[in-house]
Order: sequence, then C-alpha cells, then structure tokens
Amino acid sequence: RGSCASDSSDSVISTSSEAESQVYKVVLLGEHGVGKSSLARVFGGLEDAGHDCDEAGNTYDRCIMVDEEEASIVLYDIWEQDNSQWLKEQCMTMGDAYIIVYSVTDKSSFEKASELRIQLRRARQSENIPIILVGNKSDLVRSREVSVDEGSACAVVFDCKFIETSASLHHNVQDLFEGIVRQIRLRKDSKEE
Ligand code: GDP
Ligand code: MG
Repeated sequence: RGSCASDSSDSVISTSSEAESQVYKVVLLGEHGVGKSSLARVFGGLEDAGHDCDEAGNTYDRCIMVDEEEASIVLYDIWEQDNSQWLKEQCMTMGDAYIIVYSVTDKSSFEKASELRIQLRRARQSENIPIILVGNKSDLVRSREVSVDEGSACAVVFDCKFIETSASLHHNVQDLFEGIVRQIRLRKDSKEE
C-alpha cells in the first residue's frame, strides 16, 4: 500500500483517480458553528485550529496509521459551502463515511443532527454506511445543554457510533478519525465475505 508516501497536509481538493480506491471519503455534516471546520483543521494538522477562518469549504487529505495499517482519508468540509440543493445531495451521496457533528452547548444543533441522520438514511437507503455522531465542544462544561447520556442514547437509536470531542483542546479528535477508519474497514470486510 504505497499511496501514502508523502504526508502532505495541504488542503487541496483531491482529484485522485478511481484507481486509488483505498482513499476513503469522509464527509462532515452539521449545523453552522458546531465546530466542523475546527475538527477538520485539527485533522489536517493545522495548528491554528482555534482560529476562526470562515472559508466556504475545504478538503483535507491525510494518511493515518490505524492498527498498524495506513489509511488514506479525504475529509470534506463542504456542507456549508453554498446553499444549493445540488451540493447537499452531492454530500449525501459521495461519502464512504459520515461525521455528524453537533455542539454539546447547543440543543438545537443536536436536534439538527437527528434530522441529518434521517436525511442520510433516506439518501442511502440500502447501504450500511458508517456514521459517527460527534458531540463537540466538550470543554465548555458550564454551558453544556446536551448530556453525554443523551448523545449516546441518540446514537443507539440511530444505529451509529458516538464520541464527544473538543476541537479546541484536540481532545478525542484522533480517536474520532481512527474510529471512522475502523468502521469503514469493518463494513468492507463484512461485504467481501
Ligand atoms: P462550523 O461552522 O461547524 O465549521 O464551526 P467552526 O469550526 O467554524 O467553529 C465555530 C466556533 O466554535 C468557532 O468560534 C470555534 O473556535 C468554536 N469551536 C469549535 N470547536 C470548539 C471546541 O471544541 N471548543 C470550544 N470551546 N470552541 C470550539
Ligand atoms: Mg465551517
């Protein structure tokens, strides 16, 4: 598996060919302000993850080692790039896996996450796509509106994984992406059998 030779974390739209089928496309979904871009910047290895830059959309290309095996991920932070229906539909169909983010300090973003899960199920009916529900901003203890229990109960109902993260403290962000890779591998293996 040599596709990960250079560890460039440049945020360039990947135009990789179909031949590189080992590249996993992971799409970030979630309401505005929950921390999608912050998580993406931590993933991309950019130091100023806390710094606010409201670019329309970005794509991050990275290789990570998971269980002693390299995995190539392209992370798409494009959900809010524009408001076109076309883009939303594109997002719903292009991913090999999804990260649905809400903020633990914002109940309405949590409700929105459920809606997104339902939309995703509708768009990809028969497929069993890996999804991780992410409660971000776990560092903001005093303004918490969604408990860990509510988050994990929601994930059970929606049949997906769950993790709380803090993009600001880089807490659990690594685990999140390793978890995604493990889930993709699991589903792939069970398909091949
Ligand atoms: P997006 O709209 O989902 O892309 O959200 P952003 O990544 O732009 O983040 C929105 C705001 O929340 C910014 O001011 C971030 O600095 C802040 N933010 C993001 N993640 C965290 C976090 O884990 N903890 C705290 N305290 N703030 C965060
Ligand atoms: Mg953003």
